[in-house]
Amino acid sequence: MTETLAPRTSGAPAAGRHRRDDSAVERGEATAAKRVLLAAPRGYCAGVDRAVVAVEQAIEHYGAPVYVRKEIVHNKYVVETLSERGAVFVDETDEVPEGARVVFSAHGVSPAVHEAAARRSLETIDATCPLVTKVHREAVRFAADDYDILLIGHEGHEEVEGTAGEAPDHVQVVNSPDEVDRVTVRDPDKVVWISQTTLSVDETMETVRRLRERFPTLQDPPSDDICYATQNRQVAVKKLAPECDLVIVVGSRNSSNSVRLVEVAKEYGARAAFLVDYAKEIEPSWFDGVATVGVTSGASVPEILVQDVLAHLAERGFADVSEVRTATEDLMFSLPRELRTALKESGQGPARPARGGRRALPFDPA
Ligand code: SF4
Repeated sequence: MTETLAPRTSGAPAAGRHRRDDSAVERGEATAAKRVLLAAPRGYCAGVDRAVVAVEQAIEHYGAPVYVRKEIVHNKYVVETLSERGAVFVDETDEVPEGARVVFSAHGVSPAVHEAAARRSLETIDATCPLVTKVHREAVRFAADDYDILLIGHEGHEEVEGTAGEAPDHVQVVNSPDEVDRVTVRDPDKVVWISQTTLSVDETMETVRRLRERFPTLQDPPSDDICYATQNRQVAVKKLAPECDLVIVVGSRNSSNSVRLVEVAKEYGARAAFLVDYAKEIEPSWFDGVATVGVTSGASVPEILVQDVLAHLAERGFADVSEVRTATEDLMFSLPRELRTALKESGQGPARPARGGRRALPFDPA
């Protein structure tokens, strides 16, 4: 039976730990007792779940090694665990043996990467999150209509490279509100903004506001590019942060949405906020004068790491955990088409392990 990195008990009380059903924030209780406010939603999003399960199933179906271009998702534990199972992470397709199989990460790739893979006759499984693919399509469409496309995002991030690569002659990256004044366009009346999926909602809106001051007819994307998971995790942190002396965000330093959660926590009133990959990184000095600790995790973080942090906090006397829920998520994406087809042809599929303990064929990884 295959163990999965996908969370099984998201939101369920951990054994032996007291967790109130309703929110202390909602009830407005004031207490100096040590407590934890646990954000929900947190952790795995649908795109990460799909990408991780795609690698797991590719290894199971084809056998190791399965090559993965870049980190499948930006999480140290996920990458280490998949490596142990037979995934080989590479930076570029030219590191993959001719004709071998390679998975493209959830962050997406540019057409140039698909072409490079084709030149080496690689078998590809594209685990690009469908919500990233949506932004790629927007870039293609607006480029076809000859717009100047202002892509709000972080230069050098894989997702931004992939999206910009769809229309390199039309896209320019705007990193922050401070860069707005440096933007130049051909026709100020034919400009559209799109964005990376994992940005701070507030900062992005500020960038858009300043862009619109310069280009009053600036066109919006057809729908939100910052994805539901990024937005939901930020909303939950915004709600608990004002109550918190300390917020611990579980996530890796190269995880854009996790880093944003630290920023949002501080911005919305947490006295301090830190990012940790593992519970062992928590510093004793963080707890001086702390009564309320907020805990959340980025969209690429398995729940097991959050439970480790909660166990660590319980040992420090923070055993009273209240969930602060601001949304319920049930979105799930089907596996990449290439994998679905392969599984189906072998009589295994279409297989799709679901999140939160709901599982489909062909195996129950719980
Ligand atoms: S954070 Fe959003 S865009 Fe990125 S993988 Fe998750 S759902 Fe997709």
